[in-house]
Parts: sequence; structure tokens; C-alpha cells
Amino acid sequence: MTPNERAAPEHLTVEQACAVMRQAYQLGWISTRDGNVSVAMTDRRGFLVSGSGLIKHALVPTQFALVPAGGAPRVEQTPRPSGELELHRRLQALFNSQHLTVLHLHPTHIVAALYAGHRLAELSAGFPEVTRYTRVGPDVPALPATSEELAEACEAAFRPALGAPPHIVGLDRHGVVAVGKTPWEAFEHVERLEHICRIALAAGQPLAHAQGARHAHAR
Ligand SMILES: [Zn+2]
Repeated sequence: MTPNERAAPEHLTVEQACAVMRQAYQLGWISTRDGNVSVAMTDRRGFLVSGSGLIKHALVPTQFALVPAGGAPRVEQTPRPSGELELHRRLQALFNSQHLTVLHLHPTHIVAALYAGHRLAELSAGFPEVTRYTRVGPDVPALPATSEELAEACEAAFRPALGAPPHIVGLDRHGVVAVGKTPWEAFEHVERLEHICRIALAAGQPLAHAQGARHAHAR
């Protein structure tokens, strides 16, 4: 790809995506090479996705791979697209927007809440900080990273039977996928959910569905 092929206005968005990955690393939401991000191209030619195995806190716009709409990336291109390419491909196609960021991170407290057995949609329902701005979707079960099954399950979680799609879904034993019009918007959905998971875990919040099950049993 020549520099002209990814000329503005994408360039600014891709720079923001790099800044988001730097910030996520600084917050401890990813280790050095974890996480990935894609941004749609405004002319609908496809999307740009972060390269595979790169140092995410030092990511730069030239380290994104172009994935043409409805097609496969060029095999010989450098960098190679993220190992979670299929997840990005499915979500970029599902939302089909000129202004879409798909962000995948491993935020500590969200993963810990899932690991403790919380359901993120139930947990967040009691916190207006999240419910006012961020729709939390159904949790995706533990599936192998970079697998087709994980990509399929994420797509299903972002495709509601009724109503608006979620902004963020949790992946058990793994992380989150968030979407936004910009990289920072996607980041904010992660930040809100991470914050309330941290609060709930610090308070030793009991599991809502486990409580429900106990009450049902008592009756
Ligand atoms: Zn991951």
C-alpha cells in the first residue's frame, strides 16, 4: 500500500487508534503484543486493521493492513493483519458504517468479573454510569483466541434479536470487543465497563444470577 492509499481522513482516525492502544497498555488492559483495532475507511473501500504480533504501545499508522470490502487482504502485504482478522471482518461487515472502530482489549477487571461468574449485562444494569451511555451485550463463552468460532460468537452477540446492537461484549477468560464511531468512543465503552467491574469486585458483589437461583431454590 502506498501512503496515498490511506490518505486523510482515515489517517487521523488511525492515529487515534494508535493512541488508544498506547493508553490501553498504560492502563494495564493489554500486555505488550495483545489487543487489536480496526477502523472503517470513509470511502467504503474496506477497513484498516492493526498488524499481527506488533508492540501495541508503539503502534504507528503504517502498521495497519488494508482489508478490501468483501475481499481478502493481499497475502504478501506487510504487516500481516491481526490474528483476529475474522472477528474484525465480521463486525465491520455487520455494522457496515463509514465511521466504525472495532476495538479488542483484555481489561483486567472485566475479565476478572467474567471469571468470577458475573454476567456483564446484569452486573452493569445497576450502574447508571454504564446504562446511560453504553449497551452491554451478552457474554461470549470461552473460545480459542483467533478462532472462527470466536469470531462467529462475537458477531452473534452484536446482532440482537430486537432493538439496538450493544456497544460492548465480554469474552470469557479473554477480554472485550467494543465498537464506536471513533477509536476514543470505543475506548470509553471499555472504560465505563472496566470501572464498574472494578467497583463490583472491590465490594465483593454477589452474583446476581446466583442470587436469583438461590431465591428460587428457597421458594
Ligand atoms: Zn485477545
